[in-house]
Amino acid sequence: MEFELIPLPAFRDNYIWMLAGERGAVAVDPGDAGPVRRMLEQRRTKLIAILITHHHADHVGGAAGLALQYGCPVFGPAAESINAVSEPLRAGQRAEIPGLDAGFDVLEIPGHTAGHIAYYGHNIVFCGDTLFSAGCGRLFEGTAAQMSHSLAKLTALPDSVNICCGHEYTVANLRFAHTLEPGNRDIMEYAAQAADLRSRNLPTLPSTLSRERCVNPFLRCNVPAVVTAAQRHAGHELRDPVEVFAVLRQWKDTFT
Ligand code: ZN
Ligand code: FE
Repeated sequence: MEFELIPLPAFRDNYIWMLAGERGAVAVDPGDAGPVRRMLEQRRTKLIAILITHHHADHVGGAAGLALQYGCPVFGPAAESINAVSEPLRAGQRAEIPGLDAGFDVLEIPGHTAGHIAYYGHNIVFCGDTLFSAGCGRLFEGTAAQMSHSLAKLTALPDSVNICCGHEYTVANLRFAHTLEPGNRDIMEYAAQAADLRSRNLPTLPSTLSRERCVNPFLRCNVPAVVTAAQRHAGHELRDPVEVFAVLRQWKDTFT
């Protein structure tokens, strides 16, 4: 890899992922232009592209201003109307970034929003608000079935892929995961590690798929302990992993 991968904290718990190479940098989901500008100035480099995963303001807010200032292309989902996007993308297409010698394949992963996409390449996936570490995005514009299908597309990627999510939600997500699976040692160990990182103001991300498979309840909807917990919460039998997923997602919405 000829570039560095950096999570820039923004707002309360967002990350703007940056790819920094010799000839410039790429910003993923720049909801706020400020942190991006500061990083570019510090490194005396310029912005050569912006990648957008979905239309929410905390992911696109800084894109138009940055694109104007640096004259760079803005890649984004063709299925969502985002004013700043100059290069609309659909599943199967690629975001090519010549200045970085990098290209990213587009996956359509609806559920959080209807047109949400992910970018996959160089053993990295930028998955926005679809897959979080130990959790997943809320269903604002999609169904549980859609979201499960989208998560399955992400889990089909190689185990070692670096999962770059849009938010730092890991510690809270692990509390929910621990409630579902109090006997899962991977969850306990990761919770201790994540709490330590956060106490030093360090990111818990990127995660990896191999880790997520062990700790993320939304990827474990066929694990007996998770199924049992979901059935107890629902008060009735759940017939398939999508029903389990739907119960978990609703439960998590009000879990504190
Ligand atoms: Zn969002
Ligand atoms: Fe978000």
